[in-house]
Amino acid sequence: MNAPETVVDTDAIAAARPAARRSRQARVAWGSNVVTIGGDAPVRVQSMTNTDTVDVIETAIQVKELALAGSELVRITVNTPEAAQAVPHIREQLDRMGIAVPLIGDFHYNGHRLLSEFPDCAAALSKYRINPGNVGKGDKRDRQFAMMIEAAMRHDKPVRIGVNWGSLDQDLLTRMMDENSAAAAPRSAQDVMRDAIVTSAVASAARARELGLPEERIVLSAKVSGVQDLIAVYRDMARRCRYPLHLGLTEAGLGSKGIVASTAAMAVLLQEGIGDTIRVSLTPEPGGDRSQEVIVAQEILQTMGLRAFIPMVIACPGCGRTTSTYFQQLAQSIQAHVRHRMPEWRKTYDGVEDMTVAVMGCVVNGPGESKHASIGISLPGTGERPVAPVYEDGEKTVTLKGENIAAEFHELVERYVERSFARRSPP
Ligand code: SF4
Repeated sequence: MNAPETVVDTDAIAAARPAARRSRQARVAWGSNVVTIGGDAPVRVQSMTNTDTVDVIETAIQVKELALAGSELVRITVNTPEAAQAVPHIREQLDRMGIAVPLIGDFHYNGHRLLSEFPDCAAALSKYRINPGNVGKGDKRDRQFAMMIEAAMRHDKPVRIGVNWGSLDQDLLTRMMDENSAAAAPRSAQDVMRDAIVTSAVASAARARELGLPEERIVLSAKVSGVQDLIAVYRDMARRCRYPLHLGLTEAGLGSKGIVASTAAMAVLLQEGIGDTIRVSLTPEPGGDRSQEVIVAQEILQTMGLRAFIPMVIACPGCGRTTSTYFQQLAQSIQAHVRHRMPEWRKTYDGVEDMTVAVMGCVVNGPGESKHASIGISLPGTGERPVAPVYEDGEKTVTLKGENIAAEFHELVERYVERSFARRSPP
């Protein structure tokens, strides 16, 4: 069996990606932490809490966990007056904990009232998410949408106009369906639905501009739950506007299905330069770690060579040549070690996130893969001598043997980091 490929040419893709579709740039800030979205900024990772926003401490703790996992923006639900009242306290709590991640308020149905009646909430948020399908019906829709845009202007905040096909503006859809039925060559209902989603987003952005919101304060999204629908919708939206696009498959689902579906859809678009921020909408297992969605988003970007967050552990899948699960355990322990050490390494060493560590099960591909990695180990397979050669920067440096191979390899990785990456100067 072939070992996994090493990471593709990151510089080439990073250089090529923005050229494919360079959007305008928006800025989302809290204090001195300014997160740029779009233009030549890297693709940003977002996440969303699933706590009750009214519970200030629980929400602040989860925001902190998401931020420490690497989420550059965190969205929280703001659905009631009590939740709106809690927002400034969540912000204060985060500031006390030294967590400057910008908070995005997720509004549906009553956002116009909450943003008007709770100015401290409007000020504590760094961005508002507005769903044009949920701002009101009939003649109330325009007025209530305008109230939210005016709040954004008053508080100098950007907005994401986020259409979701589960809550698509039904008046717009009905009108477009009727027009399609009357056309000489009607399109499929699916085509009209996709068109309506994009039209809702683009027309709402145009309305926000008419109301006076500067174009650099607008981000768009149009989330659907089908992979092919998402690709078609975002390609169309990228063609029809230059706003930064937030990308994500809504209701992606549980476990591997959610990860695979999100990756399949987003990878196609990211490769075409479409998408300026991403979120992986995983349904967590009961009691599961919400930060998983951040790790998956980072892994999508890193395996595509678009960003580097953490050293990559390259491990073969194992096969009949491996005598035991020992190498799987070593791969797991190295992965855990790297994640555990990364917060400290990131503060101390420049560029450590670019390191690759190979953990291979036998000599068929082990030494070759190890040579391509920054540091790699090749464990003995069935019938092989019980030794584990280690390669550093392409050269064999030591051969480990005996009972302590795992601990010794951890130590070698530590020393490799100390030796290979420049220490950052103190702030
Ligand atoms: S054990 Fe050897 S042959 Fe099997 S997958 Fe790993 S490197 Fe390939």
